[in-house]
Amino acid sequence: MSNQSPEQSPSIILDGGNSIRPQKRIFIGLLIATCCFLAILLGVLWYVPYVGLTNIHPDLPLILGIFFGLVSLIAVGGVLFLILTILLGRDLFFSKRLRGIVVKIIFPLMVLVGKIFGVSKVKVQRSFIEINNNLVLAQHLHTTPDKLLLLMPHCLQYHECPVRITGNVVNCKRCGKCHIKGLVEISEKYHVGLAVATGGTLARRIVIEKRPKVIIAVACERDLTSGIQDSYPLPVYGITNKRPHGPCYDTQVDLDKVEEAVKVFLNVQPEAQPETQPVAAPASEARWQNQTH
Ligand code: SF4
Repeated sequence: MSNQSPEQSPSIILDGGNSIRPQKRIFIGLLIATCCFLAILLGVLWYVPYVGLTNIHPDLPLILGIFFGLVSLIAVGGVLFLILTILLGRDLFFSKRLRGIVVKIIFPLMVLVGKIFGVSKVKVQRSFIEINNNLVLAQHLHTTPDKLLLLMPHCLQYHECPVRITGNVVNCKRCGKCHIKGLVEISEKYHVGLAVATGGTLARRIVIEKRPKVIIAVACERDLTSGIQDSYPLPVYGITNKRPHGPCYDTQVDLDKVEEAVKVFLNVQPEAQPETQPVAAPASEARWQNQTH
């Protein structure tokens, strides 16, 4: 089932589930650029009427200046707070609210700013998914297996597989030609729901029917981004799929990442490692240590 070496597993989830460290830098860079852009815009908005407003009332430019200054301060403070939450990976008072601000306001702004700075949409989407994952993890959400849903794209299924799995994944014969087998095994091992959707409409219907508290979704950057946005405020932990044969065709998923995420949301503690006995130092080394004391 596992397609990654066991030594790599523990660190998988710590970076937000998608091991693309530069995404965090892209997000923070674009966030700072957006903030500077807004501050400059507010400065211009204040300065332009400054000349004319004096004629209406001598105090009006000052009042407007204080107002814009406060708005800038709140924006800068909010951005710093968000960056701190991302870097520390801890819930600093209201990471749930922060996720809402990122989903509704910052991401659309970042796509625009990214365009100006020549950052591709897919890169912005990847960083958005990673930041969303960080903020979901920062909430330290734990749920029961019946309230955790694994939502998978249909393109994971082997293209020649005759079995219909969109209605019921249990129909999978577990031949091992695609990662659906591994996902069914994870779903059975942890007793969590598993659903395969052919598109956004079916995914939405599944979510309404199953009413999960947390979703672990696998898809491409575009579908994950829209899925996270559509489902808000429902927490969606996104894992991008692998596309060795091109988009939407025999795609794959890192099963270790899926299982690791399941364990985090079910609060499954890692199995205790047997205690290792301290190894006695070789006689020559012990002799040397005695000489040095
Ligand atoms: S593992 Fe299941 S879904 Fe995949 S090809 Fe085999 S029977 Fe079909």
